[in-house]
Amino acid sequence: ESFKRIHEVEEKVQAFLTLDEERARAKAKELDEKLATEEEFGLLFGMPIGVKDNIVTKGLRTTCASKILYNFDPIYDATVVQRLQEADAVTVGKLNMDEFAMGSSTENSGFQLTRNPWNIECVPGGSSGGSAAAVAAGEVPFALGSDTGGSIRQPAAFCGVVGLKPTYGRVSRFGLVAFASSLDQIGPITRTVEDNAYLLQVISGLDPMDSTSANVDVPDYVSALTGDIRGLKIAVPKEYLGEGVSEEVRQSVLHALKVLEGLGATWEEVSLPHSKYALATYYLLASSEASANLARFDGVRYGYRTDNAKNLIDMYKQTRSEGFGNEVKRRIMLGTFALSSGYYDAYYKKAQKVRTLIKQDFENVFEKYDVIIGPTTPTPAFKIGEKTSDPLTMYANDILTIPVNLAGVPGISIPCGLVNGLPVGLQIIGKHFDESTIYRVAHAFE
Ligand code: GLN
Repeated sequence: ESFKRIHEVEEKVQAFLTLDEERARAKAKELDEKLATEEEFGLLFGMPIGVKDNIVTKGLRTTCASKILYNFDPIYDATVVQRLQEADAVTVGKLNMDEFAMGSSTENSGFQLTRNPWNIECVPGGSSGGSAAAVAAGEVPFALGSDTGGSIRQPAAFCGVVGLKPTYGRVSRFGLVAFASSLDQIGPITRTVEDNAYLLQVISGLDPMDSTSANVDVPDYVSALTGDIRGLKIAVPKEYLGEGVSEEVRQSVLHALKVLEGLGATWEEVSLPHSKYALATYYLLASSEASANLARFDGVRYGYRTDNAKNLIDMYKQTRSEGFGNEVKRRIMLGTFALSSGYYDAYYKKAQKVRTLIKQDFENVFEKYDVIIGPTTPTPAFKIGEKTSDPLTMYANDILTIPVNLAGVPGISIPCGLVNGLPVGLQIIGKHFDESTIYRVAHAFE
């Protein structure tokens, strides 16, 4: 069924970089046999799932949408992919993204342009644009994305689907090609909150292969969907409804808050005073980490290697200048500069200090409130090509999602209305490791 739908719409949406039809069909057959002979079935039995192309899959091309990895076939599965298999899910293919997850529109893919299924002249968001578009177009009911500064929540908002960035440490990053290791998290993108809870259940938990994965019990997320939010205390940061946020988006969020009030919750305005520094802090830290992480793509170990090198140094240089796209190069230069001797204290170290202040803002609010609510993005999806010439306006898209990554807390985006035929996302942010409360609130809308 999934493949039927994929063959119908993929020409327009272009969400997939690689399809794995043969193996998926073999797996489905295997599951049919299991159905006849066994009694225990995985939580995602027979469910088709698409995987973002920066999550490694054994024997299945994994490119990070970069020319530098155009021919890379990993020799192992990421922990999340392994867990999907144990849960009897069926991987159908790999999803398009911004190159190395750097971007907010999937226009930085080295290979193809993914379109927003709600309006094919608009971007699907990014960097997990392929994941969100595939779910929105009905190609797959489940997808995995990754979120470093908003890359799950922002495309989920633009495509009218449900996307969760788990608490940092909740989900193993083993086998996720690193962008900014202190911020990256893998998370679920689905049509419903319930499906989202099932998928998180499967991929969560301690992994000895990832030293940053946390040894914190994984609760039963699905049983948290009680529909009961009486007495819930909601904080609404004034920075999240102020300048830069479009009036229609503001109205959609205020309407959602009314609905929650009707269900017995209360809300108050609060402040996250350091949010205004989040964007600058993020782009310094994320680029610094990226410049170190991307050093491994040197033409020796994997992927692309130039044909025109005169010697070893020249080979590194040519390979990287031919293999990486412009945005990736911009980040590597920015990060290398920020980390260089003489500038480290002024930029990188300072950004780390501001990060701590941002984290404390969240801790202060969570002393008194259960969740924080605001929009996911300042506006709905924009037109293809509209922001490609100006990196700063592109970066500004993430202004409401980035603080959450810096603080390490979990956040979800769920649909909360339509403006001119385009979905608006509501962001619900929770305490560390309290995805259950986020799901309970999100589910109250379903
Ligand atoms: N858009 C942000 C960036 O370009 C976030 C990316 C992400 O979360 N992977 O860095």
